Amino acid sequence: MKIRVLGCFGGNVPECGMTSFLVNDTVCLDAGFVSGALSLREQVKVKDVVISHSHLDHTCSLPFLIDNNFSAPGFILRIHAIREVIASMKAHLFNNQTWPDFTCLPNDLTPVLKLVEVPIEKPFRVNGLSIRAVRVSHIVPTTGFVVEDKTGTVAYSSDTAPTDRFWEVVNKVGNLKAVIVETSFPNELQDLANVSGHLTPQTLDTELKKLKRDVPVYLYGAKPRHRARIRAQVRALKRRRLAFLVQGKTYKF
Ligand SMILES: [Zn+2]
Repeated sequence: MKIRVLGCFGGNVPECGMTSFLVNDTVCLDAGFVSGALSLREQVKVKDVVISHSHLDHTCSLPFLIDNNFSAPGFILRIHAIREVIASMKAHLFNNQTWPDFTCLPNDLTPVLKLVEVPIEKPFRVNGLSIRAVRVSHIVPTTGFVVEDKTGTVAYSSDTAPTDRFWEVVNKVGNLKAVIVETSFPNELQDLANVSGHLTPQTLDTELKKLKRDVPVYLYGAKPRHRARIRAQVRALKRRRLAFLVQGKTYKF
């Protein structure tokens, strides 16, 4: 499996794109920075986006991904997410106020956008991938994803505070190659992390004790203002096989 990191931060400054990963060139996991990171030629190949939750740092490039490619011949985008996330995008993003409702444009019969509801913990197929959504513990309905192709499986937590079911599922995955987990705030902002449903290095450390598999763990989601501090605190954990994702890098699993 090939994963290109388009953005791996929980906020946006010039060198930090927001959360989005391109899997095998055509499927995006979250969409915080798709239109900012990919050329038009690359964007038009993205036909499927799997969305973990409605927060803007995971969705804000969707309107521009569609707008940029609306008139490209044959372009159709399918957004896959659980029911609550689809409902939120309908109500708050593609609502003809924030942005046009592309699910009925250019017309109802051949819309450029399809919103596809996915089940919880049952595999669904997206362009050669088998994906399972697993609920995590954030302040809005959110799922992580277990993503499998012919070569291996990668698990992505999305935004979460301490959680259990995700780790139970991950521990049973066959051919697990890596786990991607969030770490948004430094330890001194633990209260803020708690009320906003995020991890700090110290709660990450507790979470990683739930992982019973010896695979590399990659971190994403740092708030740009705090990233140096988060890095130092993660280094101090002295855990092996733990690293930060590098924006722009392509990982092969
Ligand atoms: Zn979030």
